[in-house]
Amino acid sequence: MQYHSTRGGAAEANSAQAVLLGLAEDGGLYLPKTFPELDWRRCIGVDTLTMAEKILSAFLPDIPNMQELVTRAYSGKFETEDLTPTVKTDRFTVLELFRGPTSAFKDVALSMLPQLMTAAKTEAGMQEDILILTATSGDTGKAALAGFQDVPGIRICVFYPDGGVSDVQRRQMVSQEGNNVTVCAVRGNFDDAQTGVKNIFAACQGKELPFALSSANSINIGRLVPQITYYFKAYSDLVVSGQIDLGDPVNFSVPTGNFGDILAGFLAKKLGLPVGKLICASNANNVLTDFIRTGTYDRRRPLYKTTSPSMDILVSSNLERLLYLLSGDTALVAELMAKLNTQGYYTVPADLLEKVQQIFWAGYSDDARGADTIRRVWQEQGYLCDPHTASGWAVAEDYVNQTGDNRPMVVLSTASPYKFPAAVLSAIGGDTAGDEFAQMERLEAVTGVKIPENLSGLRQKPERHTGVIDKEDMLTFVLKL
Ligand SMILES: *Cc1c(COP(=O)(O)O)cnc(C)c1O
Repeated sequence: MQYHSTRGGAAEANSAQAVLLGLAEDGGLYLPKTFPELDWRRCIGVDTLTMAEKILSAFLPDIPNMQELVTRAYSGKFETEDLTPTVKTDRFTVLELFRGPTSAFKDVALSMLPQLMTAAKTEAGMQEDILILTATSGDTGKAALAGFQDVPGIRICVFYPDGGVSDVQRRQMVSQEGNNVTVCAVRGNFDDAQTGVKNIFAACQGKELPFALSSANSINIGRLVPQITYYFKAYSDLVVSGQIDLGDPVNFSVPTGNFGDILAGFLAKKLGLPVGKLICASNANNVLTDFIRTGTYDRRRPLYKTTSPSMDILVSSNLERLLYLLSGDTALVAELMAKLNTQGYYTVPADLLEKVQQIFWAGYSDDARGADTIRRVWQEQGYLCDPHTASGWAVAEDYVNQTGDNRPMVVLSTASPYKFPAAVLSAIGGDTAGDEFAQMERLEAVTGVKIPENLSGLRQKPERHTGVIDKEDMLTFVLKL
């Protein structure tokens, strides 16, 4: 299956090559030239691994033995066999995406990506090592490190913003074991780190290097496709439990940062899954809310540090894919992205905005409202959620209140509350004294919700990666690896 760049200026690649390349050479993102077909009904009522196999095979037909790859990626690695359980509350259904090996929703994709890459590498007859280069605002880093740890023929280097991730997230990363992993802090914020990584790709293009560069960010199509599965899984759960009939539309509220998670929902909809509205929930960094409401994307604004740091993003890379999928116009996408790069903003044509608004609805919730939501959801629904999930919940409520659309709502839960114990504890009125580990234990004592095992054991783990560098030095750092 042929893939091409959203900007139209790069050579086509088959699906295996697209996974190996990550970013297209014109700076665009890979998408299939012709959208894959799949009988979505055959993905309902089957187990999650089978769903994943069908969806991955439809998008990445040039990668063989998909069933085996899916089993290797997921089997026995998540807390539950169904990978992403749903929890019914009186108000909404919660789709828990954080039951993987690092308690991050990114485990869903980053458990799979290494398997896709090694298979694609074999398929392409590629001899040299791949170096995975990734910038993280917290959860991606650890999930990628865990996914790629000791995978033969692949090395991984993760950059994170110094002081820009939680203590637990930092410890998860710097304690990472494996003989093919590097972790380094960068002075600056997430956008600095991500821009630094993009610049390294640009600087290394066409150079003779001892490795081939690739990415594990959600710009890689092999990272995005595994995320489609959990929309089917949630829908299937609602059908199997008799809450909806096959074919009834379901709305999804998605805590959004880089626009990867919610774009996977759009891809599920394009495959035929009866997705109603996709609700894009932001925190105080509400650049996407403004875009979806007005058609102008404007990153010329301050970046706020919030209690939901994985959503503290001003440039949501995967939005570019949506613009292409809705317009089919690579020249337009290239022009808009160039304008974003040089002038810091762009406005989409009115007909394109109309298409966006038919599918998406957007809102945001700041830290104070997030805390209030955590408290209310705990007291009224008996469900303990983290600050990212709280944004999704609050904006889902706004959506229902403002539109009166009462179709079933699934709120995607993207992090364990134990990833952000201080914010969660203070929201429910608990004492936040002590370090994050003390806070985790108190949160467990107060709520009776169990600490995930991978987090409770962290305190004992030695810190193996302690470097901090300036963003200007990232290229030099990578060339020395
Ligand atoms: C990555 C992340 C998000 C945002 O997902 P995107 O695909 O970047 O939109 C939300 N919540 C948490 C906890 C995350 O780690």
